[in-house]
Amino acid sequence: MYSHLGRVLASAGRAGLAHSPRAQAAGIPRAARAFSSSAGPGGPSGNFRRAAIALAGLGAAGGLAYLATSSEGSFTRPSFLTAAHCDAAPAPTSVPTSEADAPEEFRRIRSTPEERQARREKRSQERLERMEERRRIGPARLKTLPTRAEHMERLRADEEYDLIVIGAGITGSGIALDAASRGLKVALIERDDFAAGTSSRSTKLIHGGVRYLERAVFDLDSKQYNLVREALAERKTLLEIAPHIVHPQAILLPVYSFFDAVYYYAGAVCYNLLARLTSGDRMPFTRILSPTRTLEAFPSLSAEGLRAGIVYHDGVNDDARLTTSTVLTAASYGATVVNHTEVVGLVQVPEGAAAGTTDPAAADSTRHSDAGSLVIQGSGDAAASAAADTAAPRMRTTGVEVRDRLTGQTFTVQAKGVINATGPFSDTIRRLDDPASRPILVPSQGIHVVLPAHLFEHSTFGLLDPATSDNRVVFVLPWAGSVLCGTTDTPLPRAAAENSGNVVEPVGPADLAAAGSEAGPLPSGGLIAREADVEWVLNAVRPYLRKDLQVSRSDVRSIWAGVRPLVRDPNNPAFYSQTADEQSGTNTSTIARTHVVHVSPSSLITVSGGKLTTFRIMAKDALDSAIRVFGLTPDTPEAITDKIKLFGAEKYNEAAILSSLTTEYGFDAEVANHLLRSYGDRATQVAALCAPTEWTSVVLPDGTLSSVLTTRPLEEADAAAAGTTVPPRVSGPRGFRLAPDHPYLDGEVRYAVRHEYACTLVDVIARRTRLAFVDVYAAAKVIPTVAAIMQAELGWSEERTKREMATARLFLDSCGLTTVTE
Ligand SMILES: Cc1cc2nc3c(=O)[nH]c(=O)nc-3n(C[C@H](O)[C@H](O)[C@H](O)COP(=O)(O)OP(=O)(O)OC[C@H]3O[C@@H](n4cnc5c(N)ncnc54)[C@H](O)[C@@H]3O)c2cc1C
Repeated sequence: MYSHLGRVLASAGRAGLAHSPRAQAAGIPRAARAFSSSAGPGGPSGNFRRAAIALAGLGAAGGLAYLATSSEGSFTRPSFLTAAHCDAAPAPTSVPTSEADAPEEFRRIRSTPEERQARREKRSQERLERMEERRRIGPARLKTLPTRAEHMERLRADEEYDLIVIGAGITGSGIALDAASRGLKVALIERDDFAAGTSSRSTKLIHGGVRYLERAVFDLDSKQYNLVREALAERKTLLEIAPHIVHPQAILLPVYSFFDAVYYYAGAVCYNLLARLTSGDRMPFTRILSPTRTLEAFPSLSAEGLRAGIVYHDGVNDDARLTTSTVLTAASYGATVVNHTEVVGLVQVPEGAAAGTTDPAAADSTRHSDAGSLVIQGSGDAAASAAADTAAPRMRTTGVEVRDRLTGQTFTVQAKGVINATGPFSDTIRRLDDPASRPILVPSQGIHVVLPAHLFEHSTFGLLDPATSDNRVVFVLPWAGSVLCGTTDTPLPRAAAENSGNVVEPVGPADLAAAGSEAGPLPSGGLIAREADVEWVLNAVRPYLRKDLQVSRSDVRSIWAGVRPLVRDPNNPAFYSQTADEQSGTNTSTIARTHVVHVSPSSLITVSGGKLTTFRIMAKDALDSAIRVFGLTPDTPEAITDKIKLFGAEKYNEAAILSSLTTEYGFDAEVANHLLRSYGDRATQVAALCAPTEWTSVVLPDGTLSSVLTTRPLEEADAAAAGTTVPPRVSGPRGFRLAPDHPYLDGEVRYAVRHEYACTLVDVIARRTRLAFVDVYAAAKVIPTVAAIMQAELGWSEERTKREMATARLFLDSCGLTTVTE
């Protein structure tokens, strides 16, 4: 009977839609299409299922809303009486003259001495708890961070670390922060730059994932549900600990049929309520807008067939700056952090021998032993034969062999244990540990396309296409003064994923060796987006826009591709009995975005998978494992990173910082907002590193007057003032834009070099500022200016400067400057 009713409802829906001119037009928004055609796997009954779920969802949402409001309301009594109340109240018979005469409920309640004592004790207990809470915020933070050279010196010193973390994407950085704030001695080693991998290439959402919630409901999948719940709680935490980098973002979901309106509204309300009820999140409530209000919110939206707009909120962030901020916070707690330093091998000793031992007995126990330890380099024959040697004793990983890519020098670092947090490159490190290890990664590529904000009439709303032609979701989000659109989800051959971080080498290895310390590091080239993917993203966006605003390929300002480090779980016995097809995991969209922590027989811990949003949880799980497996003794057993304000957030006061930037330094609102959102309470230090400027009038050959912005060199006093405190002296307007249409300033280059460990030109244009990811053409033009500032700061030779500029151009090519593969 129900399926019959479903068919009737569905055909009514289809009939209605079939008469809609929009439904007949090509390129109808998918939300409508998805419903009018057989949306679910079951055709009409799939429609019924969706309708039933939508109605059930609405019911549940209503119920939850009632619960939410009633639980709030149960403590709130009306604060005034209406006329009806007065009429209903019985007239007083007599006026009480003393408290004893008054009715019971009006008598003042006098507390007994015992009660007063209990209250005093409770207050002092609360005071103690507050003090304990303050104590739990961990060791004191350093006021001035060590330089990269000082970090490197510490790394080279012959001391054993508690923990080495390989890879400074968001996951590795999170682990380093967690470990350092729990009082452990930790080293974070990154072969390229902080966030150079996937962590600078995400969609920028800090979210539970509406799509994952839908899947959790449809498939009754508790794992997906838990992931959404956990991620929503993380969204709240990140908004608190990094308020300068993570912000609420209103996202509009345009709908084109009544059923879609009910279905998606129910989903968005459930998403919102789940966040409120499980983590006390206070994002604005989901709203449904009329077509007129929808068009006001997103003026470039096509009005054709539009029935309503649903607005819900999620978080957005700047992923590379979030990662950098996490690294800097870890360093402020005493972590050793080095970028441009590659782990090229693992140090392993026979089980039972101390790290770095020279015990001859231990040394004899393996053929490959050198001074008691085995360094497995690369995945070459030596490593393979070492692993194949069944007679060899069980080994334990006790350190890493690293190569400083700035100087080419190689050395080893010892530790009680090593964590592999290399995301898409996890299997490469796992093979260093055990060449016979099975791959766990099922990599998938996602690309983003950046368009100018004016095409979207500078709307502050994001847009969500909830069901693309191939059942993905596409976001259109305002970001960094532009609009990013994405993403795709394309299975990637493992080899391509592992090579995606390989260096772009403008010179051969021989030149590199000959150039010695002048060679400089070479950045990851990253994956290059396929032209077909770029077109796919544009085609997903186009139907939503007004006809007069159609976007074309030439509007694209930047393209970037990233690898999702999706994983299969080696802790699951089924992992070892999977067929080759299952292992290759061709359908990546069915793989949950959960993370995996795995301990290898040699005690190498690998953590991979997950999402940027859940990095703190990944870090905590990996570190808790490390504490257990390596027998570490942290000061605090529990993670405290939910209480730690990230770098830039400690003294974050939006109004005060904005006022200082605009009135004292003379920045316009766009620049001031950009500095605030990138650097938080450090924005004034960046401002102080901008060159003082003044407008002077010049007489042009034709006799007319023109104003020219001139800069004078940054004085040493200014530079010193910009060290750790807000500079005391301010002398008029400062700073010039590196590119006229973008708010990035000269001072940011100096700040990146002096305070954020930027070593290469690409570090500055891609991750400390995001110009390469926003506008490759503007980034190409600023290369000479940035190179000149960095040359002055770092004392680069002419040759090194040229090399940096050439490498930067190669990087921009990988973001679509000239190269897009067919
Ligand atoms: C297209 C796309 C969109 C996404 N959107 C979102 C989103 O909106 N929200 C969200 O929450 N998540 C999103 N994600 C997921 C999220 O970006 C990733 O889960 C996260 O960034 C992975 O971080 P990671 O630190 O594990 O890996 P990575 O960031 O890749 O870091 C690994 C690091 O290890 C380094 N490394 C590798 N080998 C070595 C070595 N031998 N020695 C030293 N260092 C080494 C690499 O250079 C790299 O920096 C998205 C992912 C993709 C691909």
